[in-house]
Amino acid sequence: MARIAVIGAGMGAMATAARLAVAGHRVTVYERGSTYGGAVGRYERDGFAFDTGPGLLHLPAVYRDLFVKTGKRPLEDCVDMVQADPAVRHVLPRHAVAVTLPGASRGGVAAALDGAFGPGAGERWNGVLGRARDAWDATRRPLLEEPLPADRRALASDPYPALRRSGLLRRRSPTLAEVAERELGGGLGELLTGLVRTYGIDPGRAPASAAVLPYMEQTFGSWYVRGGMRALATAVHERCLERRVEFVFGAQVREVLVADGRAAGLRLADGSEVAADSVVCGIDPRLLPAASLPWPQEAVPARGEGVPSRLTLFLALRGGRPADVVHRTLVHSPGAVATVLRPDDPAGRPDADHEAVTVSALCGPRGAGADELLELACGAVEGLRERLLWHEVRTPADVEAATGAPGGSVPPPALAGAGGRLLYPANSTAVAGLYLAGGWAHPGGGLAHAGMTGALVAGLIVEGAGFRGSQ
Ligand SMILES: Cc1cc2nc3c(=O)[nH]c(=O)nc-3n(C[C@H](O)[C@H](O)[C@H](O)COP(=O)(O)OP(=O)(O)OC[C@H]3O[C@@H](n4cnc5c(N)ncnc54)[C@H](O)[C@@H]3O)c2cc1C
Repeated sequence: MARIAVIGAGMGAMATAARLAVAGHRVTVYERGSTYGGAVGRYERDGFAFDTGPGLLHLPAVYRDLFVKTGKRPLEDCVDMVQADPAVRHVLPRHAVAVTLPGASRGGVAAALDGAFGPGAGERWNGVLGRARDAWDATRRPLLEEPLPADRRALASDPYPALRRSGLLRRRSPTLAEVAERELGGGLGELLTGLVRTYGIDPGRAPASAAVLPYMEQTFGSWYVRGGMRALATAVHERCLERRVEFVFGAQVREVLVADGRAAGLRLADGSEVAADSVVCGIDPRLLPAASLPWPQEAVPARGEGVPSRLTLFLALRGGRPADVVHRTLVHSPGAVATVLRPDDPAGRPDADHEAVTVSALCGPRGAGADELLELACGAVEGLRERLLWHEVRTPADVEAATGAPGGSVPPPALAGAGGRLLYPANSTAVAGLYLAGGWAHPGGGLAHAGMTGALVAGLIVEGAGFRGSQ
């Protein structure tokens, strides 16, 4: 039994802790805040309640696997998960189009797109998503289920089989924006790029393989947890406690102690030290002083600066939620894409005569302001301004307070292509016994991807450097 110290109580760190405890290790999580979950929080006021972080889960298989591997009760016994169906409504004011797409139905999506954009639109969309499936098949294991390979060259080139334009020699792989323009065009192209933008990815710079994200959503669905996504964090925390993981709150980690080239423990902000046989860093490793960590050059994350945050509005509305509204609407505009969430969940509202709506958009140099966001939300919620009782604004500073990430940056999932610029540092480091989990490590951010870091780090610690994935 080894003593393992985990830094931070975010979802990736807790997923790692539960798996390591099941393997017989003594695991202690050091969290600087007063609660678990990091980005996955809940805001409550006057009987209304809102998710402060993600409002939907893609790839629920990641958490199903965590619960199967760490105890007797499966995920569905611990939280009430429902698939959002219809999956999403897109409102594109510039193209005077609004289209509702059903959940996990290729044919249904194609028919809806034909109806909105004209005959052939569904076929073009399915063509792009079919090529995205090829990219997904090529990268699913190295970019989700396996530790990052030492030789990353295969992940540096874009696996998306973009259509070549006849007569033109392809000098470089196209960006997602170029693929959207060439293979979809107009409003349909904007629909694709807008969806990818919500992940914090710039379609003008991202490789076309970013199309795996819409593919993932359409194929595996979008899932809501009744009572809010915070209930998922609570379930993972409870699973940790059942497996005797210890949590120390109010414990800011200042440094990783290294002795003889091996991780030996932690130094906390109050100056105290804790000894450990291995350390799992569940936060952006650049937040720890480089002097204490001999990072190899390639392990320094290329991301960070310029990674956008989120601006979120919590809207308390008078009047009940109409039965036929869609859970998630994306309102597309050149400046921002607003995600409007209207969960059908009594836990989020004081009574049936009120509704809680969450609106969010990327926040950064090209992000939206609160007024613009409210205006965009009007495109998804009829009579919004007349119904508005009050609203609260959640800024990047609030995100930073919850996660510790400077500027409230929210890391997106890793992508192949772009010369490997969009990969994250590997889960094992040059320091023996020091591992990286959470959204700033391979395979990147988002509930599902960060959750996968738990399987990867636990595999590397339990099975050793030869661990090649859990499937
Ligand atoms: C507003 C918002 C919207 C999002 N929307 C989505 C979405 O739609 N879909 C999706 O999949 N994902 C979304 N995400 C991202 C997703 O929530 C995260 O990627 C996921 O929760 C994984 O987080 P993590 O494991 O990296 O930990 P984090 O949530 O980053 O938590 C890190 C934890 O470490 C603690 N900590 C920091 N520094 C220290 C220190 N020095 N010592 C001790 N503890 C420390 C923090 O207090 C915090 O508890 C969103 C995030 C935010 C903020």
